[in-house]
Amino acid sequence: MVAGAGSQPKSAQPPARSSGLRRLLPGRRTMRLRLTLWYVAVLALSTAVIAVLFYIGLQNALMDQVDRGIRETAASEAKTSVGDFLQNGPQQVPDEASSESMIRVLSARGQVLGGAGAFRRPSDGRPPQAGLATVPAPGERAPWRVYTQAVELPTGEPGWLQAGSSLAGTEAALARLRRQLLLGLPLMLLLAGAGGLFLAARALAPIDHMATAAERITGSDLSGRMGPQGSEELGRLAAAFDRMLERLDKAFQRERRFVSDVSHELRTPLTALRGRIEVTLTRPRSGSEYEDTLRGLETEVARLTRLSEDLLLLARFDRGALTPRMEQVDLSGLLGSVAAQVRPLAQARSQILEEDIEPGLGLRADPDQLIRLFINLLDNAVKFSGDGGRISLTGRRSGATITVEVSDTGAGIGAEHLDSIFERFYRAEGSRARATGGHGLGLAIANEVARAHGGALSVSSRLGEGSTFTVSLPG
Ligand code: ADP
Repeated sequence: MVAGAGSQPKSAQPPARSSGLRRLLPGRRTMRLRLTLWYVAVLALSTAVIAVLFYIGLQNALMDQVDRGIRETAASEAKTSVGDFLQNGPQQVPDEASSESMIRVLSARGQVLGGAGAFRRPSDGRPPQAGLATVPAPGERAPWRVYTQAVELPTGEPGWLQAGSSLAGTEAALARLRRQLLLGLPLMLLLAGAGGLFLAARALAPIDHMATAAERITGSDLSGRMGPQGSEELGRLAAAFDRMLERLDKAFQRERRFVSDVSHELRTPLTALRGRIEVTLTRPRSGSEYEDTLRGLETEVARLTRLSEDLLLLARFDRGALTPRMEQVDLSGLLGSVAAQVRPLAQARSQILEEDIEPGLGLRADPDQLIRLFINLLDNAVKFSGDGGRISLTGRRSGATITVEVSDTGAGIGAEHLDSIFERFYRAEGSRARATGGHGLGLAIANEVARAHGGALSVSSRLGEGSTFTVSLPG
């Protein structure tokens, strides 16, 4: 049974969590907002990492370029120009304010002896050391990069040659890049967020439609469907949901039909019983009349008892409470005794019941359930074959499957009924079948037994020619 529309399971409520994102945005958050926030957060993190790596890479490349330049200058000037620089002396050549590079000669103790360009500008006041160094330049925004190498002064004393370049240009370029990144990245994230929100809203719009469609579906009307959706993923979800609705709809219809069938099946014999009792009680009767009435009542009560037993059996199958009690069964023997049981009924209608059962057929099964299955099939064959009809019961093994067929030369079943014949209370021709005393549960039970044994029950039939019911069982 399906719970009423008003019952809302407690577990449907989302569990209370307090993620960082939730604390950030108190109140109601839609999925599209959450998606966008995650998207922007991931984008921000990845672009920040890329920007930092790019910045560091560029900084290193620019420094390498500067270093290579001053090294090359120092190497070429060391061979040719040391003497010239000394002639200029430390004072004679003023610093060129605009110059961003310099070359100078120093004494062994670091005293500037002469040079070119802004040769007095960078100074850290320490004696020079061979190699590359970043040297502060007092009064300037950026330090200098200086390369120092040992040289021999024209006087024969040891000295130093330094080539340097101001890092002002490099720093300005890096500062510009920093500014652009700091301004551009938030702007890009803002745009991405707006775009993400728009796209998420578009992508999730079908969910709103699906929710509206779902609202319309109630326990009493399951005919509504989601229908096709724009995106493939949601389309698949909607299709799966629709298929589920289809199954539920069918199950509900079956259930409603079942309840009305049960009521109907009960009402008819009960009305008959009451009618007979009322008629009998209208006046005093003789003992034999009462006996007659009671015998009539007994038949109806037996019918009702059979109905309630069949219903109980099916309910137990539904609950899964009727798993077969498997044991090794001699199927050939079982079929023979079932045929013997039905034979008197067939003979009473001048019907011929033929047996063609392979000897030694054996399988693991619940014998009581199998007897019920084959009795139902043979009983139907007798019921639905006219007087003088021919019924055959065959049993064969082919490989791992045992096939039992019950054929008759009876009324047959119309093609339009064949699909429904195993449904509960279904009768191919209502009035005729009702007259036979059946409730329309025999085949449903036979089908459940076959399935419970891992087998199947099928039918082939032609109206007016007869029917063949085939039971396949794993053996
Ligand atoms: P019932 O109690 O009415 O026999 P079943 O479930 O056994 O119920 O059968 C359902 C219906 O299938 C029958 O009412 C009848 O219309 C049809 N049917 C079953 N077996 C046969 C058969 N051998 N020949 C013709 N019709 C059959």
